[in-house]
Amino acid sequence: MEEKSKSPSQLFEKLRLMKKCPFCEHNYDAKKVVVLEEQEENRLVHVTCSECNSSILHIVVVTQIGLNTMGIITDLTAEEVLRLRRGPGVTEETLLDFHKFISNTNNSFSKLILDYI
Ligand SMILES: [Zn+2]
Repeated sequence: MEEKSKSPSQLFEKLRLMKKCPFCEHNYDAKKVVVLEEQEENRLVHVTCSECNSSILHIVVVTQIGLNTMGIITDLTAEEVLRLRRGPGVTEETLLDFHKFISNTNNSFSKLILDYI
């Protein structure tokens, strides 16, 4: 029977796609790979480059036809990702308030975005 739970370094060795940082091409250090969640064959993995300190959040899914990963660039630490995933979700009321806030062209946030684009 195959061991279900793998250590971050064992998982890292299997995920050759995550071997190098896409920003500086420095080889990732297995010690900077954090498996945040494991559900059956799926993993949520946070990887930080020890050279440029950039981080990527990988969703790793094992299917019948192979391994599939999707990487998302993030400025969150592994601890922050866990805190946000376990925290309360965004309510409709909060989303509506945010929409009203950014729709108001008199506030500084809108000016900042409009100046940027
Ligand atoms: Zn890097």
